[in-house]
Amino acid sequence: MENCIFCKIVKKEIPASIVYEDDNVMAFLDIHPYNPGHTLVIPKVHSKNLIETPDNDLSILMLVSKNIAKAIENGLGAHGIQVRINTHEAGGQDVFHIHFHIVPKFLDDEKRFHRTSYSDGEKDVVLEKIKKSLP
Ligand code: AMP
Ligand code: ZN
Repeated sequence: MENCIFCKIVKKEIPASIVYEDDNVMAFLDIHPYNPGHTLVIPKVHSKNLIETPDNDLSILMLVSKNIAKAIENGLGAHGIQVRINTHEAGGQDVFHIHFHIVPKFLDDEKRFHRTSYSDGEKDVVLEKIKKSLP
C-alpha cells in the first residue's frame, strides 16, 4: 500500500534489521524498542489491523511469532516474552499495517513499558543472536 512504512520495508525501499523473512511474513527489529530485541512480525501483504487481517494470515503470523519468541528467549536469555497487537488508534496503534510486537522481558523489568535505544553496535549483535537461535 502506498505511503505505508511497513510496505516500504517489505519492498526494501527503506532499511530494516530483518530477523526473519519468508514468502508471507517479515520480522524486523523495532526502531524504538521496549527492550533490545523487540521485534515486529508483519504479513507481507498489507492488512490494516487485527480485525481486518484474514484468518489464514493471522495463523501464519502467530506461528512465526512463536518461533521468534523462542529465539529471543534462547538467543538473548530473556526470562519471558510479551506479545502485543495494538488495534485502532484508541488501542495504541500508530502504524496501520498489522504487526505483532514480540517483546523480550526480564524479571527485574519495570511493569510499565519504556522505550529504549540501542548503543553503538548493539543492534547488530542482538540481531545476530536472535537469527542464530531461530529454528
Ligand atoms: P504501534 O504503536 O503498535 O502501531 O507500533 C508501531 C511500532 O513501529 C512502534 O513500536 C515503532 O517504534 C515501530 N516503527 C515505526 N517505524 C519503524 C521502522 N521504520 N522500522 C522499525 N520499526 C518502526
Ligand atoms: Zn502496509
